[in-house]
Amino acid sequence: MNGQVHSMEFSGLVAVVTGGASGIGASVVQRLLDGGARVAVLDLRIDTAHPDTFAVEADVSDLASVQKAIDAVAAELGGIDIVVNNAGIGAQGSVETVDEAEWARVLSINVTGMARVASAALPYLRRSGAAAIVNTSSVAATAGLPARALYSASKGAVLALTRAMAADHIREGIRVNAVNPGTADTPWVSRLLDSADDPGAERAALNARQPHGRLVDPNEVAEAIAYLASPRNRSTTGTSIAVDGGMQELR
Ligand code: NAD
Repeated sequence: MNGQVHSMEFSGLVAVVTGGASGIGASVVQRLLDGGARVAVLDLRIDTAHPDTFAVEADVSDLASVQKAIDAVAAELGGIDIVVNNAGIGAQGSVETVDEAEWARVLSINVTGMARVASAALPYLRRSGAAAIVNTSSVAATAGLPARALYSASKGAVLALTRAMAADHIREGIRVNAVNPGTADTPWVSRLLDSADDPGAERAALNARQPHGRLVDPNEVAEAIAYLASPRNRSTTGTSIAVDGGMQELR
């Protein structure tokens, strides 16, 4: 459907989506395929990756794994034009309850993971005429949410990293932007709800806490990522788009 609306804006381009086997990443994969891209998925588990993708098992917290996967994508698909740095994990707690090992683990996936993937992909992106990187941050980067100290710090760092990378690479024709999703209806959120005593009531309460009364649809986030990744937007870099029903602005 989207493919008809947006024509084949990604035709001839190769996109890499980390965490593309689930949730927001899976929606991005579908949106880019609809737009005519050839798409590679880098994920810890690839059994649920879209069958029309080149799926590579990779761990963004492991430099050797990332380098090998990115080189495999470029060899298989003939280059890389778009990187969607979307793999990430949650972390609950305050600074008193999260231990050192958890800080190191989550920052290595949520922040350094994006730097690893970008660094491995940059030699290929420089050869593209339409290079773009889109990093998935979160409303947690800008809104002070309780019991999210580590997660918020990691996503705030993603926004700072996005701006710094945009400055480093704009002269090379590589744009770098971010999206800030609100609470999105993905397997991650379903897992959290399923662990509650009454998942139905918990979901209703979560919907009610969103300014627009419902969870964000992952396809809405994918649409913002597609906009930022699209060669139609050569002048947009170093910024982010909130897809959160107004959570960031309307409190
Ligand atoms: P999800 O759990 O449904 O999907 C995440 C995917 O990332 C999974 O396929 C997982 O296997 C993969 N992944 C995790 N660690 C990895 C690693 N080390 N290496 C490679 N792949 C790895 O989650 P989601 O809700 O779709 O979240 C995707 C992104 O969106 C994350 O960065 C998350 O922080 C962000 N986000 C999500 C929400 C939300 O409410 N769901 C809100 C704001 C931001």
